[in-house]
Amino acid sequence: MLNCKQVATLASDYLDNNTSLRWQIRLHLLMCANCRRFIRHLQITRDVGARMAINEPGADAEAVWNKVQTRIKKEAQPDQE
Ligand SMILES: [Zn+2]
Repeated sequence: MLNCKQVATLASDYLDNNTSLRWQIRLHLLMCANCRRFIRHLQITRDVGARMAINEPGADAEAVWNKVQTRIKKEAQPDQE
């Protein structure tokens, strides 16, 4: 069984579909809300970063981070829009 630290280390490879431990990570995610949140936020960060690289190539890291924060906040409060 993987622990949270191992899952955090493997998170990037997991999102890239690049680890043989995929099922062990999924198993851990089923039981661990913290790591679920961590992976979700990592996914959002990568997603926003990738989109901005295409749509706003001049954007700096702070602009990317602001968008990530906005998306995470939106997901946390889906009823408050
Ligand atoms: Zn965990």
